[in-house]
Amino acid sequence: MSVPSPQPRSVVEQIPVYVPGRPPTPRPGLTTYKLSSNENPFPPLPGVIEAAHAAVDLANRYPDMGNTRLYEGLAARLGVPADHLAAGTGSVALIYHLLQAFCDPGDEVVHAWRSFEAYPIAIASVGAVSVPVPLDEQWRHDLDAMAAAITDRTRIVLLCTPNNPTGPALTQTELDAFLDRVPSHIVVVVDEAYLEFVRLDDAVDGVATYRGRSNVVLFRTFSKAYGLAAFRVGYAVAPAPIAAALRAVSLPFGVSTVAQAAALASLDAHDELMRRVDHLVAERDRVTAALRDQGWSIPDAQGNFVWFGVGERTASFAAACEDAGIVVRPYGTDGARVSIGEPEGNDRLIEVAGSFGL
Ligand code: PMP
Repeated sequence: MSVPSPQPRSVVEQIPVYVPGRPPTPRPGLTTYKLSSNENPFPPLPGVIEAAHAAVDLANRYPDMGNTRLYEGLAARLGVPADHLAAGTGSVALIYHLLQAFCDPGDEVVHAWRSFEAYPIAIASVGAVSVPVPLDEQWRHDLDAMAAAITDRTRIVLLCTPNNPTGPALTQTELDAFLDRVPSHIVVVVDEAYLEFVRLDDAVDGVATYRGRSNVVLFRTFSKAYGLAAFRVGYAVAPAPIAAALRAVSLPFGVSTVAQAAALASLDAHDELMRRVDHLVAERDRVTAALRDQGWSIPDAQGNFVWFGVGERTASFAAACEDAGIVVRPYGTDGARVSIGEPEGNDRLIEVAGSFGL
């Protein structure tokens, strides 16, 4: 006789699988490059490693659950009150926290597609409904279509700028015009994971934007420009009531003592880290220009990655890269995203792209 076994909620079966960027398979005689996760190729600064090591001595104690020093450091750098901040285990955690805090089952969340693949996963995990709005033909958010997708059930709109995986960023003018069209009871997230890489004349000023609105939330991370992906530290900047809601649903002690120390030391080393970002931006622009010279139509690349919208040829493009020792990130039959890495890896990409054939 069969006995009933525990069953997860029915929504669990509908959660899409998160596919992480793979590391390269080691190849004798060939240096390989992992360009599949938009990581920072620079290792942590010595001062950051020292701060993290010092924090290991406190590993028998729980972390500061209030992230006190981290909030103080961020508040000072950003010029925002500390109670407008909520930290989490990477900014991906903040996406989950926001959905948990604002969405009942059946509520709708509007987001561009293709965009960050964690959005539909997190949305499904709370039983909310994903409303994906196709990007326009330049691989940019179609803000008119996104505004038109808002219904009475919409609780959250997720904007990703620059958009992962395609690269274009919103301008401040576009963002303001969009926000003016969104009812103020709907939370609008501006996911700025790649903010530091943006070089646009009319770039979004996230902090000024959130200051002027009661429904705007910024998501930021130490994983990309700050190069601390393994430590898992992200944060939201939000009006106090939204920040309080995010903190209320967050996992206790979600940011470890070591992660808090490393993030704080990185904030102290901001200028040095931003010089590294300048280098990566120069590499991105060099790669983009070389690919366009080859005839590739690469969309505006404002993050630390470039997008090949190769459609049906995505798998063969990824395989050609792999053969040359570069692991990239294929997305179904939409295209492939390639992170900007060390100059040698970037050169390898230019070579493979040149011989792949348009
Ligand atoms: N938002 C976007 C747009 C991302 O691309 C990523 C990471 N790939 C994240 C958020 C999450 O970053 P993390 O959890 O490492 O802070």
